[in-house]
Formats: sequence, structure tokens, C-alpha cells
Amino acid sequence: MPEFITINKEKVGLGERRVIDLNIARLPTYTTIDLPVLVYRAQEDGPVLLLTGGLHGDEINGIEIVRRMIERDIVMPERGTVIAIPIVNIYGFIQNARGLPDGKDINRSFPGAKGGSLAKLLAHTLMNEIIPEVDYGIDFHTGGSTRANFPQIRCTFKSERGLELGKAFGAPVLMHSGLIARSFRSAAHKKGKEILVYETGESLRYDELGIEEGINGTQRLMKHLGMIKEAPQANDTRIFNSSTWIRTKNAGLFITRAELGESFNKRQVLGSIKDPYGELNSRVHAPHNGMVIGLNNCPVVNKGDALIHYAYNK
Ligand SMILES: [Zn+2]
Repeated sequence: MPEFITINKEKVGLGERRVIDLNIARLPTYTTIDLPVLVYRAQEDGPVLLLTGGLHGDEINGIEIVRRMIERDIVMPERGTVIAIPIVNIYGFIQNARGLPDGKDINRSFPGAKGGSLAKLLAHTLMNEIIPEVDYGIDFHTGGSTRANFPQIRCTFKSERGLELGKAFGAPVLMHSGLIARSFRSAAHKKGKEILVYETGESLRYDELGIEEGINGTQRLMKHLGMIKEAPQANDTRIFNSSTWIRTKNAGLFITRAELGESFNKRQVLGSIKDPYGELNSRVHAPHNGMVIGLNNCPVVNKGDALIHYAYNK
């Protein structure tokens, strides 16, 4: 690692903590939008870990994980550097929206382009200003609207290093997830930087258990990387190499018997689809032995809607 970390032409030396404002663009009101990047460097050099929240602007749990780490001052390592960006998608955050004002998803816009859409510009800024300076990252996410996730780390098991880091995080669930084209994780992976994705809760809601699990896991990963000496005890992590969304064949009212984190055997009943008039009662069964890691909390469903995200081993 070089002596200085350089972001936006600003040099941060060992033992320094600094907020660097990356200028992105203006709002239509002509107000400038800056992306605050917080850099925490220990006196002793070591690995550089990136923490990002709010890549999707309505996913508050990740933002809260990074915010609490800053507030508790556990973001400052004893060795190495932490670069924290609590809210990547400032535009989405102020609008309670996942994407940018034009609807584009930053996490499908990597590696980005300077002259492209706002999503591509933000992706380009991350790839050019931040990624060259980091070794590893944790990208904190939350389930979509009305869809809640059980606390889980997603990484590709094809990368030995990724799997090792995922295990070190020690979340309740560790799941294989292939690299998605144009995602942040995939673009960073191509540059040789391992990014873990942490998911918990649903958008625009706090998930207290998942927030604290995210903080504890980050500390365990920092300990594993030699950045700190002490970290909270790990969970008994359940490891799954596959997952699927169980979709409904019928429209109607979804009544679930399953809870997030609950394990089932193949063919056990997870819930039912009923119609409001007492005619339909279509049972939803577990497709494999496995665990419910995501749940659609909206009772009203159309044919083909995703009901349950189910993890299993094949
Ligand atoms: Zn997300």
C-alpha cells in the first residue's frame, strides 16, 4: 500500500481521518450534490476496507449500519484503512427511491461512464476514485419494497478468497450468488477487488437484528484481516450454494406459515394462496430441504409473483 490514499486529488496520510466531498452533479434547483467519503487511517499501514450503504437509496439498513459504526467510532481500525460511504445514491435517498431520478439502477450501471446517465456517472466515480484505493469491500443492501431479507452475506463461492471473507463475516446465512452483469460487485471483482454483499430487512424499514448483525460481521471481517484485535462472537453460519424465488401459480391472498430464517424439509407447507370468496386454497410447498431467507410481506399477489426466497444446497 502506498503511503497516501488519494481520493479526488486529496492525500490522506497514516493516522489521519478525513471527509472528502466528491462532487457529482447538481439538482435541478442548481444545488450541488456532493458524495461525502469518510477516510479513517490507522497509524500502522494495512488492508483498505470499503463500506458502502445506500447504493439503492431506499435501503436504509445499510446506511444505518455504516452510520452506527461511525457514531460508535468502531470504524477507525487499529491497522489499515476504512473508507466509508454511508449513502452512495444521495438522489434516491432524498426521494425514498431505489434508483436515480430517471429510474436507472446504479447497481446495473457499472463500470459506468463519465458522459452517461447519472447512474453511470456515479458508477464511474466509484470505479475511478474509490476502487483503485481499496482491497476489499462490504456493500450493504436491504430487500426491496415489501420484501424482507433474513441477514445474509452473498458472494461467489467460485472465488476462494470471497468465500473465506464471507465465512469470516459470520452472518447467520452465507449464500452463493453469481456475479450479476454490470453490478458493483462484478465490476470490482474484475479489478481484483473482493466485495461482499450484505442483505437484511426490507426497504424504508429498520431491521434492528440485521443492523447489529451487519456491524458485528464487519468487525469480525476486520479482525480476520488484521485490522482490529477484538470482535464479537460469530454466529453458527448456515451455508447455502443455491437459492430460488418461489413464485405463485395463482393470484389471490398469500397467507404464509413461514418466518424468515426458518428451516423446512422438502414438500413441507410454507403457506397458501386463497381467494377472498372461500373457493381457492392452493398450498405452497418447500421445493427442497432449506431455509426461508426472503419473504414477500404483501398479502395481495398476482400469478407469477415472488413469494419466498428459498436457500438450499444442491
Ligand atoms: Zn439493494
